[in-house]
Amino acid sequence: MRTKKLFILGCTILLLASCGNKKKTGTADPKDSTQQKSPQDLLLSKYTTVRLEADMGALTENEKKMIPLLIDAAKIMDELFWEQTLGEPKEEFLAKIKDEKLKQFAIYNYGPWDRLDDNKPFIEGYGVKPKGANFYPTDMDTTEFQNWKEPGKKGLYSVVRRDEGGKLKLIKYSEYYKAKLEQAAELIKQAAQFADDPGLNKYLHLRHEALLSDEYQASDIAWMEMKTNKIDFVVGPIETYEDALYGYRSSFEAYVLIKDMEWSKKLEKYVAMLPDLQQGLPVDKKYKPSLTGSKADLNAYDVVYYAGEGNSGGKTIAINLPNDEEVHVKYGSRRLQLKNVMRAKFDKIMMPIAEELIDPEQLKLINFDAFFSTTMFHEVAHGLGIKNTINGKGTVREALKDHASALEEGKADILGLYMITELHKMGEIEGQLEEFYVTFLAGIFRSVRFGAGEAHGVANMIRFNYFKEKGAFERGSNGKYKVNFDKMKDAMTSLSTLILTLQGDGDYAGVDKLVKEKGKIGEELQADLDRLDAKNIPVDVVFEQGKDVLGLK
Ligand code: ZN
Repeated sequence: MRTKKLFILGCTILLLASCGNKKKTGTADPKDSTQQKSPQDLLLSKYTTVRLEADMGALTENEKKMIPLLIDAAKIMDELFWEQTLGEPKEEFLAKIKDEKLKQFAIYNYGPWDRLDDNKPFIEGYGVKPKGANFYPTDMDTTEFQNWKEPGKKGLYSVVRRDEGGKLKLIKYSEYYKAKLEQAAELIKQAAQFADDPGLNKYLHLRHEALLSDEYQASDIAWMEMKTNKIDFVVGPIETYEDALYGYRSSFEAYVLIKDMEWSKKLEKYVAMLPDLQQGLPVDKKYKPSLTGSKADLNAYDVVYYAGEGNSGGKTIAINLPNDEEVHVKYGSRRLQLKNVMRAKFDKIMMPIAEELIDPEQLKLINFDAFFSTTMFHEVAHGLGIKNTINGKGTVREALKDHASALEEGKADILGLYMITELHKMGEIEGQLEEFYVTFLAGIFRSVRFGAGEAHGVANMIRFNYFKEKGAFERGSNGKYKVNFDKMKDAMTSLSTLILTLQGDGDYAGVDKLVKEKGKIGEELQADLDRLDAKNIPVDVVFEQGKDVLGLK
């Protein structure tokens, strides 16, 4: 069971600038440069480059020695992911591409398929991307797999191949990728020598063993148990998105991370305040059961290296791990917010959107701190409200079925803003409340671009239309939007009440009506969003990263 996936996928997408259905050609206005761009340039312009830097001065000498070793281990994860996704050697594949720009785009995509455009092939000679990537033989059909009497066939840590007789067989990752895994494990062991934090030291040793044995649980537990480490290293075969055939097999990836101790401390404090905030929610008592202590472990990090699956296509800015349900139940899970990458997306994607759509008078109220806060409080706010219906319809998730995710994301957004408002009142948050509100509105424009096929997209459309109806903002004749602060606060309160009540009642018909009426983009908004497309605002980021960027040897 890897139920966490849906949830994190939802939250991960939150910060991708837009989904793959964004059309970048045809609608541009004449004075825009889009039309002069070559097809290769248009592809490359989906991404904007970001340098992954961090304050190395804040690290101890030993921590500085660890990072290059972890980066080298991460690079091996990158090579392994190439092998998992592409059915031919990376170097041979790249050597065939003569156009340097297309080659660059192929590197961003780890293959010939555009990950931000439904895996459309962009290199001649390639057809549809195999759903099973390189995890399964390409000539295997689903009937053959279904009929295969192999108890381990759903394994997270094995590839499916054919034996000499043409029959399917399983090969464990630790065997199939042996040489590279041994190199990576060795580097991790070397890094552990410099890990002064006992928790980190233990985790690295266990992770070293896990890579060689395909047994990850002990290292996942050690990872949850470590709390005081400043360096973190997410590494191994982790998510299963790349196996689009069955979602069974995991892909190699790595993140080298430096914890933001100050923000992490603040978050700990806010999480501890959840029980009180819950009692203050604007809804009848029966919809707000008292909360006990939370196992949520929420921290902020700067990422200094992305590798493998996590570095392909749209970049994650939040990770929620481990996936192992048994570890989840006993030890909880950890949510990692990747702050420097959020900032990059704010600067390069969110601000250009705001400049186009927010009234110049209010534009100055938008800033990264407010953006970061609304994102963080969204995560904390998932912990508020109600998980089980009050009328015997089971969990809210069961009762609201296909609408559950959209409503839950909508809840987290609006209660995140509610938390900010309450904590601001209590003097627990710095900054002007108006900054959070205008930044929040700009965030809606960013997120409606995810489209109606995605939970955050729907949640934001509903909120946009609800706010519009309540006069929370107005659109000037210049096509720019302005917040009406008092009305927005009222709309925030009444929308919170509405969502919490629908969830607590498990009212599927009520939610369905709300989604049908408000979960769509009207003509005027669509025209405004088309202006963003015409401006060629990038869809996502790619990284300039590594030891050189960090000034490390
Ligand atoms: Zn969320």
